[in-house]
Parts: sequence; C-alpha cells; structure tokens
Amino acid sequence: MKRLTCVLLALMLLCGCAGQPQKTKYTATFLDVFNTVTSIMGLYENKETFEQDAQAVHDALLQYHRLFDIYEEYPGVVNLKTVNAQAGKAPVQVDRAILELLADCKAFYTATGGRVNVALGSVLQLWHEKRTDGLDDPANAALPQEAALKEAAKHCNLDQVILDMEASTVYFADPALQLDVGAVAKGWAAQRVAEAAPKGLLISVGGNVCATGAKDDQGTPWVVGVQDPNDSQNYLHTLYLSSGSVVTSGDYQRVYFVAGKPYHHIIDPDTLYPSEYWRSVTIVCADSGLADALSTALFLLPQDRGQELLDHFGAEAMWVDREGGIFYSPGFQDMIRT
Ligand code: ADP
Ligand code: MG
Repeated sequence: MKRLTCVLLALMLLCGCAGQPQKTKYTATFLDVFNTVTSIMGLYENKETFEQDAQAVHDALLQYHRLFDIYEEYPGVVNLKTVNAQAGKAPVQVDRAILELLADCKAFYTATGGRVNVALGSVLQLWHEKRTDGLDDPANAALPQEAALKEAAKHCNLDQVILDMEASTVYFADPALQLDVGAVAKGWAAQRVAEAAPKGLLISVGGNVCATGAKDDQGTPWVVGVQDPNDSQNYLHTLYLSSGSVVTSGDYQRVYFVAGKPYHHIIDPDTLYPSEYWRSVTIVCADSGLADALSTALFLLPQDRGQELLDHFGAEAMWVDREGGIFYSPGFQDMIRT
C-alpha cells in the first residue's frame, strides 16, 4: 500500500499538481528582425506547440520589420525605404500598418512637445553614416559637419508628411524630408504582435519587452532585468511583469567614439547632437508602442518634464544619470523585485 502511494505521488509530481501536465520553459531566439536580438519565452507542455507559437510571433514581427525598414527594400513590399525615395515626388500607396504607425507618430510628436520626431530622418542619416564609418574605421571616426546638420534640420517638419487615410497614401510636401521610425517602430510592432499572440508569453525585441500574460496559471509574473549602463553583464534591477511592457533607451546602444568621446544614437532635435541628460531611461506601461516613444522622449528631457509626460500617459519610469544616480517615478518601485 505504501509503495502504491509512493508510485502515485511520483506520478502526480510528474504530471504536475492536481492532474495538470508538467510545463517546461522554452526560449526561441531570432536575429533577423529590427536589427537586434528577439527572444520569445513561454511555459509549454510540449516543444512543438511552443515552436509553432514562437514562429508565428517571429513571422508577424518580420512583416513589420520589412514594412518599417528604411535601409533595405524587399521584393513585392512597399516599405519606408520606398516611401523615403518616392513620397517627395508623388503620393505613395502603402500598407495600413505604415499609415497607422505614422498617424501614431504624429500623436507622439505632439504629446512629447516635438522631442520624438520621426521626420528627423535627414539629420539622423548624417549621424548614421558617420557612426557606420566610424565603427568600420575607428582611427578616422568623425562627427557630421555642423553645416550639413543645420541644412538637414530645415527638412524635418512632420506636418509636411501628408497621410491620406482614405486613399492609403503618404506624401512629403517637403521633397528633402526623410522618415526614420527607429525610436518607435520596435515597440509599436511588439505591441501589435503581443495583442494577437497567445497569453503567457514574454516577447523581447531588442530590449522592448512585452508580457502577454503571467508566466503560468498560478499568475506568477515574469522577471525582466534592467541593464546597468556601465556593465552589460549586470542588472541594476529586476522587475516583475505580468502584462504590459518594459522598454529602455540607453546611451550604450549604437555608440561610436570620436577623439575618445562617445556619441550615441538619440539626437536632441534642438542641438542636433546626442542628448546628454541621462545614461538610460526605463519605462513601464501598458502599451509597448507608447513605452518606446516615452523612453526616447524622457531620454531627451529633464526629469520634471519627463514626469509630466508619465502623469499624462499613466506610465512609470526609472532614470539613470551620468553620475550613476538612479531616480524613480512614484509607482516604479512597486514593480521592483531586486
Ligand atoms: P533603441 O532603438 O536602441 O531601442 P530608441 O527607442 O531610443 O532606442 O530609438 C533610437 C532611434 O530613434 C535612433 O537610432 C534613431 O533612429 C531614432 N532617433 C534618434 N533621435 C530621435 C528623435 N529625437 N526623434 C525621433 N527619432 C529619433
Ligand atoms: Mg524608443
């Protein structure tokens, strides 16, 4: 009898509690979307089902990546590279996702007082070229020419991007204008994909993290690390996340050095140079597209103006300054695990 109880107990453990099958944590990693590392995690009874779901999430992200890419074109796809090349000449018919993203970008522009401006493309291109050259050949790394930056800045008025939602077209009233949606596209796409994905996944697109629900049926939250700007192997904090999104903008991303000084990739629209307020800003909020826009906006603002935006949108933030000081919005600490 005792033996039978032991066998039954062992069987119950094998199958999980209350007759539920045991679940295993699986992770899938992809390197071909938004020029970054995407990882998808979930607790599943079997690997095949997880792999199918992870593949579907990846495929949806890849579609958005292709639409929002400004550097590459793809056969049969009218994307933002096509728009940048043609919309200054005539209206270009585009996928609904492009129109909806750009409509949201206009709203982000207004809400962030112009800090996040996807029409800064002409300025950002100059930085992108110098950064790419500087990383290839560090000894000859250089800054963009001041005159070129000022000239490009004349062509960054987002009001000159004309969206016709009925005809599904984008037109640039200023032919020298260029779009760069790098500040919002990953988060916006992650949000869309997370909304359609199965519950209980953790999706990270290059640090834009979304939880589509708690990790398991008991409601255990996922744990998300916030990177130390000084040490990529170390977390400043780990946070609990059961739904919504955590997004960080940091000066340690896409950085290059000129005469020993680091230049990162988030450009202040007033100075046309990398902003110097913060080392990193982490946002926690329900919507990942909004979190991505806010992480860039707060990176470009002093803390009090950032807090105003958080209050307006119902989001929380953590700021890390150049001296290593860490500052929190009032509700942020409730989410800290360690
Ligand atoms: P990451 O892409 O590393 O997650 P962000 O979300 O902060 O970081 O976006 C940075 C990207 O946004 C830059 O690489 C550039 O393409 C674009 N960008 C930089 N400055 C601005 C700005 N002021 N407004 C809009 N886009 C910007
Ligand atoms: Mg952003």
